[in-house]
Amino acid sequence: MPDGQDGAKLDGHHATYLETAVALINTLTGEHVHGRPKPPLGGHDLVRAAAAALARAGPGNGRVDLLAAERLRDVASRLREIIVALSRNEHDDAAGLLNRMLADSRARPYLHRHGDRSWHLRFHSPEADLVQRCAAGLAVSVAAALGEHIPHRVGLCAAPRCDQVYLDASQAQIKRFCGLACQNRVKAAAYRARVRRSGP
Ligand SMILES: [Zn+2]
Repeated sequence: MPDGQDGAKLDGHHATYLETAVALINTLTGEHVHGRPKPPLGGHDLVRAAAAALARAGPGNGRVDLLAAERLRDVASRLREIIVALSRNEHDDAAGLLNRMLADSRARPYLHRHGDRSWHLRFHSPEADLVQRCAAGLAVSVAAALGEHIPHRVGLCAAPRCDQVYLDASQAQIKRFCGLACQNRVKAAAYRARVRRSGP
């Protein structure tokens, strides 16, 4: 996880964790992407995907083996459940799920420093393994976004047959789709429906 980050840049730290959360959810979970079915990953593919998603948070995250990849997929599934609850405006459910995740990951803040670098805040216990570190950091950052301590929103793509999630850091927070592929797909479908209605 973002070990080398400067603790003063709290927003950047949370943003990195949220980007990692989105990458883990999108690569390790979900049944549809951009209108097409998404086959579940297993074995080496699962390990590679989990390692690639974690690499977004920076180097030095330790090696991912199959057991770690499977545990990371469980973490991603729990995060997805939270994002789905949020997308339905079920904030009480999302907060309950997050509180359970914070407790299970044994997240606890402590100050850490590398050599003579400045102190920075970490959210996992010093004894935590790779997956626990990851779960604690992700849960804290999603909780900070839910609690409106940071101006980021994680949303679920509104296009049909797509369950990718996205990070919306814009001020207006009006993002609805995971990307241009889905936005254009929905626009094209709406256009076709209009043409059909006004047709002969
Ligand atoms: Zn989408």
